[in-house]
This record gives sequence, structure tokens and C-alpha cells, in this order.
Amino acid sequence: MLIGAHVSAAGGPDKAIARAEEIGAECFQIFASSPRMWSAKPIPEPVAKKYRAEMKRAGMGPTVLHGKYLVALGSADSELVAKSEIALQADVAAANVLGALGVIFHPASHRGQGFDAVIDQFASSVRKILDGEPGESLLMLETSAGAGDHIGSSFAELGTLVKAIGNERVAVCLDTQHVWAAGYDITSSDKLNAVLDEFDREIGIDLLRSVHANDSLRELGSSVDRHDNIGDGHIGARGFATLMAHPAFKNVPFYLEVPGTNKSGPDRPNVDALKKIRKQVGVG
Ligand SMILES: [Zn+2]
Ligand SMILES: [Zn+2]
Repeated sequence: MLIGAHVSAAGGPDKAIARAEEIGAECFQIFASSPRMWSAKPIPEPVAKKYRAEMKRAGMGPTVLHGKYLVALGSADSELVAKSEIALQADVAAANVLGALGVIFHPASHRGQGFDAVIDQFASSVRKILDGEPGESLLMLETSAGAGDHIGSSFAELGTLVKAIGNERVAVCLDTQHVWAAGYDITSSDKLNAVLDEFDREIGIDLLRSVHANDSLRELGSSVDRHDNIGDGHIGARGFATLMAHPAFKNVPFYLEVPGTNKSGPDRPNVDALKKIRKQVGVG
């Protein structure tokens, strides 16, 4: 189990490596391009070359890219869906060039159409993206907190999408804060076992390929997406200890997306908090 964090890729993905090292991260997540703008440029080969050399030197674990927040494959607006497909495909292309584990994206909202109405559209968009960008990188659907019309706050919905897509490059990123907000109690062994049984039944536990490790500012079932620093929130250090001790997470990389002690994003105290828990539960 590697412990990583979201870091800035300002100046290029090769520049993210030193930032990850600086906070003690063993792997990292980046945005391939600005998450709030549609534009994206392919990664130039000299940058990719520098990135690969730096990764080797640093001994970093698998990188993941986070998709743009604008992406909405469940929208009724065909122009928005088309833009989303282009943006995600560019991210998958970047992931392939970097040799990243894959791209994590939000299933986003069905915008009032109802989940059932968007399954086929969503699935065909994902297939189109993966067919258009062959390679090794995965496309990972992220569990959602369940606010509004957001897709993917239940494992049943994610499982339905995964099956409808039917591509072996599709996987899932479990965000600890989002599943907690969606009502999945992961803080005691019994409850966590039940949650992971459901995950296995609905999605398949082998599709759990990455974790967003975030404590929660809000209570169980709040549907509110608000991350907290590890140990400061409702999941707490003991909740993370329960989670990290479970064999389902043994080979799954963790990526912090916490506010940070100085509100500057994931930092060393949060990385150290997870490392300490990992040591306590004896999986490091
Ligand atoms: Zn996310
Ligand atoms: Zn979140």
C-alpha cells in the first residue's frame, strides 16, 4: 500500500515529482491540464522523457491523473458530452504517454434525467474514449458523495455503469470521504466488511484500483463533499486504521486530497499521519 498525494503539476508533469518527494509521498496524482478549463495540450515528448527519468530516480509509485471538473458524461447537452469526451480522451492520452496507472474522473450529474436514462449514453462515451486511445491506462470512475443528481454514490450505480461499458480498462477509485458522505460506514471492521462485500457484489473488488484518502468534515450520510485532514474529521485515525488493515486495500495506492494544515493542500503531516497508521496496522 503506497501513500501518495495530489500535487501541483505547474510547469509540467516532470515538476510534480520533486513536490511529491518534498512531502514524503510515495506516489502522486496530478491534473494533466487545468481542471476548470476545457483546453488541454498534449505532453511534449521531451517533457515525458524527463518525467520518466525523474520517476525512476525518485522511485515513485503509480501516478494517476484527475479528470477535469467540467466533465459530465451524463448530461443531456450533447455539446457538453462531446467536450467531455475530448477532454477525457486527452487525459487518457497523457496517462499513456506518462505510463500512468490511469485517469480518475467524476461520473458527475445526470442533470435531472434520472440515472437509468443516461446509462447507455455514459457507457458509449466511455467506450469511445477508450477505443480512441488504446494503451495500458485505466479510466477510473470515482465514487461520489451523492449531492443533487450526482451519479455514483451507490456501488450499484457504479457497477451498472461498469457492466454497461464492458471494457477491461475501466476501474473504480474509492474516495473515503465521498463514500462516508454517501452513507457507507467504513470505520468499524464489521461495517467495513459489509461495505466491501457490497462493493464486491455490485462492482467486483478487483476493480478497486485507487483510493482518495480524505477524512470528512461532515457526518455519515451528509451527501456533502467536504474533505478534512487525516485524523481531524469524522472518519478519524481509527477509521483509517480499520480501512488500511483490510486486505482489500493491500495493493491499492492511496492519494490524499486533504486541505492541509496550512490550507495549501496535501502536506507532510497528512502523509506522515497515514504512514503512521500503516505502520500501526502492520501493512507497510
Ligand atoms: Zn475527484
Ligand atoms: Zn471530494
